[in-house]
Amino acid sequence: MQATTSRHVVLLGIGHTNAHVLWHWQRNPIPNCTLTCITRFPTSTYSGMLPGTLAGQYAPAQMEVALAPLAQAAGAALVAGNACGLDLERRTVQFENHPPVPYDVLSVGVGSMPAGWLHYQHPAVVPIKPMQTFVDRIDQRIQAVNGAVERAKPIRIVIVGGGVAGIEVALCLQARLATHLPERQFSFTLATASDSLASGMRTASVAKLQRILADRQVKVRSHFEVTAVQESYLESRDGQRIASDCAIWATHASAPPVLQKLRLPLAEDGFLAIDPTLQTTAGHPIFAVGDCGTIVQQPHPKAGVFAVRQCPILWHNLHAILEDRPLRKYHAQRDFMKILNTGEGKALLEYKRFSFHAHWCWLLKSWIDRGFIKRYQ
Ligand SMILES: Cc1cc2nc3c(=O)[nH]c(=O)nc-3n(C[C@H](O)[C@H](O)[C@H](O)COP(=O)(O)OP(=O)(O)OC[C@H]3O[C@@H](n4cnc5c(N)ncnc54)[C@H](O)[C@@H]3O)c2cc1C
Repeated sequence: MQATTSRHVVLLGIGHTNAHVLWHWQRNPIPNCTLTCITRFPTSTYSGMLPGTLAGQYAPAQMEVALAPLAQAAGAALVAGNACGLDLERRTVQFENHPPVPYDVLSVGVGSMPAGWLHYQHPAVVPIKPMQTFVDRIDQRIQAVNGAVERAKPIRIVIVGGGVAGIEVALCLQARLATHLPERQFSFTLATASDSLASGMRTASVAKLQRILADRQVKVRSHFEVTAVQESYLESRDGQRIASDCAIWATHASAPPVLQKLRLPLAEDGFLAIDPTLQTTAGHPIFAVGDCGTIVQQPHPKAGVFAVRQCPILWHNLHAILEDRPLRKYHAQRDFMKILNTGEGKALLEYKRFSFHAHWCWLLKSWIDRGFIKRYQ
């Protein structure tokens, strides 16, 4: 790439990986470059602390990163906008309500959305994304049904999605409601299309989670693929129903619609197709990081830990592409520590073949999470 006096590095979506660029830029900006951050919300939410915030273990501000001060400290421009496309020839990011933003190098980090959500938009359904507004939206829905459902009857809550996020949300919401509305009865059901829970976790951990859910009276309905949503129930493909006053949509990560508008190659799963260098397979000076990129040669699950491990690779490759040097490859780790917040001051920790459910696991998770977010706050 030819050196010019000022080139534009643009970050589209400030999630786990792109936020790290801002952090580096503050200390050591790339010479002769401007940095622009595009964001739909004034804050970024750290998903690792969302369940704890729901459980009342953290104040909402503790899981949030205010982007204006972070950008200001880095000397970056902040564009509040919902990007809706790219002009690959002119190298600009397009918006519906904002002038195009030019880039020489672009890093797309717009995350993912819960699968199927767009088909089932209904006032009785609260999707887990955008995470920035989730706690407020769930509080509003609970408030509405609290007024509408007879006091003698329990409020029926269904969490759609039996992955780790769905389980954490079920257990942590239960803890929240026990404090916020102690006088009310609630019933909790976890509905999953598959035959098992917490895919990706070992059998011993899954068995522990099943015991925890049973002890906390969270019913599990497997093989329940939601195909219709009504005000008072969810219906499955085979016509079964679950009574529901409030459904939370927390299914696995799927590609957000904006990715289809970028005119870049997509992987089979609908996310942007990238090489191990995180660069689009189309060869443009565009990276896709975190959930929104799929390395076609070695796809890995969508999780924040991968997004975080991509940070040093992205930072190196931004320099390298601007200086015409070889790009570095990212290799996803095979195994990583998983810690699920179970809402009552404990967490379930899985590392290699070990699995524990204890208070110290929550202390460890809280220490890791607070340490992670502190550098951006
Ligand atoms: C409840 C829950 C708990 C989780 N817990 C864990 C955990 O403990 N450990 C773990 O490894 N993973 C966890 N995950 C998964 C993790 O959240 C994701 O893998 C991670 O957030 C991906 O990071 P990202 O940077 O790709 O996207 P995100 O963190 O989602 O950031 C993307 C950002 O882009 C913005 N954006 C989106 N579209 C646009 C647009 N068009 N224009 C401008 N900005 C846009 C969004 O508003 C958002 O701020 C959890 C997920 C959930 C839902």
